[in-house]
Amino acid sequence: MQTMRAMLFEGPGQPLRLAELPIPQPGLGQMLLKVHACGVCHTDLHIVDGELSEPKLPLVLGHQIVGTVVQAGPGSKRFRTGERVGVPWLGATDGTCRYCGRGQENLCDHPTFTGYNVDGGFAEYTVADERFCFPLPAAYTDVEAAPLLCAGLIGYRAYRMAGENAETLGIYGFGAAAHIIAQVAKHQGKKVYAFTRPGDTAAQEFALRQGADWAGDSTQAPPENLDAALIFAPVGPLVVTALKVTNKGGVVVCGGIHMSDIPAFPYKSLWEERVIRSVANLTRRDSEEFLALAPQVPVKTDVTAFPLEQTGEALEQLRSGQFVGAAVITIISL
Ligand SMILES: [Zn+2]
Ligand SMILES: [Zn+2]
Repeated sequence: MQTMRAMLFEGPGQPLRLAELPIPQPGLGQMLLKVHACGVCHTDLHIVDGELSEPKLPLVLGHQIVGTVVQAGPGSKRFRTGERVGVPWLGATDGTCRYCGRGQENLCDHPTFTGYNVDGGFAEYTVADERFCFPLPAAYTDVEAAPLLCAGLIGYRAYRMAGENAETLGIYGFGAAAHIIAQVAKHQGKKVYAFTRPGDTAAQEFALRQGADWAGDSTQAPPENLDAALIFAPVGPLVVTALKVTNKGGVVVCGGIHMSDIPAFPYKSLWEERVIRSVANLTRRDSEEFLALAPQVPVKTDVTAFPLEQTGEALEQLRSGQFVGAAVITIISL
């Protein structure tokens, strides 16, 4: 039996462990992929911390996978051997529920999420459903492309929820998703105001380098009120903070899968048709649109790379905000 190196998650409170696992076999409609790079995401932290409480166990995390096709499983013929593909968080849907039927496959009743219900990409190999894989723009290296697959895709879905008419956009939490979306927003002529943890001048300078018109502490007011706010930090009180500086008819979009509680606030803050909404997962349409748009902007990803065995360290650095931009695990097969 051939084996591979993988970082294994065995339960909340336990550190990821480097393990030798059997190389998985592609099932019906699946492909075996050799993984080259896999981005690290806040969702991984929510799984490790037990806030997302129903992972497959033991589990290989990682849902921003860049790999090449090694072997097609039965019935799989969409991609050629050796072709480079991306695998996102939405690993599969049932295709039959009412949400899938009306173009909301991101809300599928029976979804499969990569690196949560099935093994993901912090490993030398993985298998993926070919229908949910994407060709990646050639302009990006493997490491540069990885953050496009969740930070980019779900960031883009959140950005679309801001509406085309939004001229002033606030972004709360300036990490992987924000640095990508700020570039898209500037490309589309919007004013971008970036908010970070109080005193995080490194992130504020980073936001300005990505084209933000202003950057400050989340406790500060922006230079003008916002037509829309995107909240990428998992901090519920930011919803209320953002709502207070949002214009009439504006929207506050929560981009994360988990957030601390939102405190009570006066109805007056919501009055005048302000909206609070969340963004869940992604659709294949989001992927196609965003992966076509990214090289046109062109979006440049700022990446800190870690080797596979330092995946746990990368997660801890993400938690404490020790790098700007995105973290990506690079997998070099021995
Ligand atoms: Zn469905
Ligand atoms: Zn993610």
